[in-house]
Amino acid sequence: MLKHKQRISLLLALSLLFCLSACSMIKPLGLLLRVEQESEGDPPGSESSTETNTNTETETEISPEAEETPIRNLILIIGDGMGPEHIAAGQLGSGAAYPFTSWPNVNVNTDSVDPSGNAGVLTDSAAGATALATGNLTVNSYLGIDPYQRPLQTVLDVAKEYGKSTGILTTDYLYGATPAGFSAHSNNRSDYDRITETQATSGVDFLCGLRNDSHYSSYRSLLQENGYAVCNTVNGIRDASVESEKLYLTVNIENNAADSLPLSSLASMAISFLENDEDGFVLIIEQAHIDKNAHNNSINGVVSSVNSLAQTVETVMEWIGDREDTAVLVTADHETGGLTVSSQPVFAEQYFSATGNFFYSFSSTKHTDLHVKLFVYGIAPSFRNCTYYRSEYLIKNTDVFQIMKQLLITESK
Ligand SMILES: [Zn+2]
Repeated sequence: MLKHKQRISLLLALSLLFCLSACSMIKPLGLLLRVEQESEGDPPGSESSTETNTNTETETEISPEAEETPIRNLILIIGDGMGPEHIAAGQLGSGAAYPFTSWPNVNVNTDSVDPSGNAGVLTDSAAGATALATGNLTVNSYLGIDPYQRPLQTVLDVAKEYGKSTGILTTDYLYGATPAGFSAHSNNRSDYDRITETQATSGVDFLCGLRNDSHYSSYRSLLQENGYAVCNTVNGIRDASVESEKLYLTVNIENNAADSLPLSSLASMAISFLENDEDGFVLIIEQAHIDKNAHNNSINGVVSSVNSLAQTVETVMEWIGDREDTAVLVTADHETGGLTVSSQPVFAEQYFSATGNFFYSFSSTKHTDLHVKLFVYGIAPSFRNCTYYRSEYLIKNTDVFQIMKQLLITESK
């Protein structure tokens, strides 16, 4: 647990650093990675998991072994709307391979359910986030509740049970569907008041999202009553009470404002806030602009926002360095736009920049049922032997929660 005064002090120092470095945070890709490839011997799909209405029913599918490298920290990075072709577009457009694409990976089904619990529904970001956060399929627009509107335990709740610090960072507003799926309970993703109210009592230690003073000012008192220092600039942290145990930070993030900060630099700030907890931490990071750009069929926006996510992964990996106590998962809630890319002129549309060019086609302006990817780094040996990690194996979005929960439970034994 804790050390909150240390956290705020650290952030005071960091906020000064940010002023000097925010405009020069984009670094070249090329970090050396501990790549953990695995064999592809077993047939894919041989141990298909079952959908559940509780958080525990699929645990028996994972068989931890005796000797494990403890996983103390867990970082989940979500590209909203990021299908495999979005990642390919980012790489082709930037002229550089993203190291995380070499990590062990599987495909992920992203369906949600109808109010009767029938699967196969094209998901929105609310149900998609709830699946990742709680291991439960739910109805579109529902956040942190099951199809019967019962509140669900999130992975951050599990982390709390084991004394870990928790955090959420997003380029979206904190009441956006993805961050809300991990920290709120509501049957209406557009009920921003209800979402912020339930976030205030979520217990999440670090919450950081896009600035919207007219909305958040109404909740300043409620958030403060629940232990949050409430700030709307990085510099504002300086004025926050050092007695505050938690931070609710809303700032300009990748939005063209003069003081806009890149997601990667805020990821560094989040880690600095959380890393001193001797029990470790769980941090959720979302790059929301991939979805928004794909809805608009903006290939330039897709490339830049996927690059932002990749840079954020790099920043996380630079912090990890040689440490072996931290797992990183990179995934998405669903695919948006039906994007296909090629280095060959097989499509009419062409992306061209100083760093790369490729041809592309969007088949939709909406979400699709195309599978997304889960990339994993730093997973303990027993989990690398688990069928979840076989290449070509298709898992469910709810399995991502089961993987994270099992990591937390195993670490804490
Ligand atoms: Zn969307």
